[in-house]
Amino acid sequence: MSIDTASYITLDEHWGAHNYHPLPVVIAEAEGAWVTDVDGHRYLDFLSGYSALNFGHRHPVLVEAVREQLDRVTLTSRAFHNDQFGQFCRELAELTQTEMVLTMNTGAEAVESAIKVARKWAYEVKGVQFNGAEIIVAAGNFHGRTTTIVSFSDDPGAHDNYGPFTPGFVTVPYGDLAAIEAAITPNTAAVLIEPIQGEAGVIVPPSGYLAGIRRACDENNVLMIADEIQSGLARTGKLFALDHDDVRADLYTLGKALGGGIIPVSAVVGRGDVLGVLKPGQHGSTFGGYPMACAVGRAVVGLLATGEFQARSLELGRYLHGRLDELVGRGIVAVRGRGLWAGVDIDPLSRTGREVSMALRDRGVLCKETHERTLRIAPPLVITQDEIDHAVDALADALQA
Ligand SMILES: *Cc1c(COP(=O)(O)O)cnc(C)c1O
Repeated sequence: MSIDTASYITLDEHWGAHNYHPLPVVIAEAEGAWVTDVDGHRYLDFLSGYSALNFGHRHPVLVEAVREQLDRVTLTSRAFHNDQFGQFCRELAELTQTEMVLTMNTGAEAVESAIKVARKWAYEVKGVQFNGAEIIVAAGNFHGRTTTIVSFSDDPGAHDNYGPFTPGFVTVPYGDLAAIEAAITPNTAAVLIEPIQGEAGVIVPPSGYLAGIRRACDENNVLMIADEIQSGLARTGKLFALDHDDVRADLYTLGKALGGGIIPVSAVVGRGDVLGVLKPGQHGSTFGGYPMACAVGRAVVGLLATGEFQARSLELGRYLHGRLDELVGRGIVAVRGRGLWAGVDIDPLSRTGREVSMALRDRGVLCKETHERTLRIAPPLVITQDEIDHAVDALADALQA
């Protein structure tokens, strides 16, 4: 016997911690760019699990890789070698043109790992005074939810009442190169930056900013850490958002789409001499690099190596942005982004992001506000031009309703 939508929501709200405010839709099945709710209504997914579903729901190549691995071995722990781990690391390093891979599970763990590595590198290689290492971060950042990471979040909801906080972070305005240059001291270990700020509303920094950070880091022996957990892996039309500026980071944090929307897989990839500061026993994770994660990660790398998803995002992204730009002045005040990724600011005289998300749901499109008046649009990269038209038409209608 099936229960109705309202009953599922009541269950969630009674038994689940209230740390989210989901749209009232209860998803039961999904395939490609589409999801189906418990009543059989179909919706176009215009959010992709915040880019965890870049390849769409249940991409057949990824599902097959997981099935095959399920029939072989699922978990070994890193106490032993497994036959997937080394191959995954090599394939991911080759795809990203990096030298070494540190496997983790969630995005926040990848960021935590990068912070630990940068500090260790600062003391052991750069020669920073003991316990004095500083990491420069940007205002409006989103890097995850651990205690250390929320220590340098300026979102009151993410930060307040979680103290005492981890020291050693210096916040500067996003997009302001001079502020980063001024904040660098002999104690600076790293600059940790989102090449495009996703959670903040898909904020694209001024041109020259990322190249300028690279230059400042080179001149001062500081590591550049790019958090590409949301912006990377084809979302912006290239493998990395940094690639649009021909900039290379010393370390990249990857997550979300690396697990193909099936299991959490994250990694820090980058310079061998930097990740090489970690010696046996100094960092780890029970599940990091487990055979299932490596099998799905290898299949994801295989999809990305074709370049097909990057190309789709670039081409269809131009189309999406063209169509969204037509709505500026008609309920929308600004559109930002790159590839199949857009932050849409809703006219403050019109409706809230939540109201527009609800009106879109009623029209068969799922997306979600970030902050009060910004919609974050990030369809799966398997979406077609006709489906983009369907969703943008629904948005135009939702803004007028
Ligand atoms: C989602 C996200 C994270 C955190 O990833 P989790 O898997 O939720 O821990 C970190 N950085 C960025 C840029 C993200 O978008």
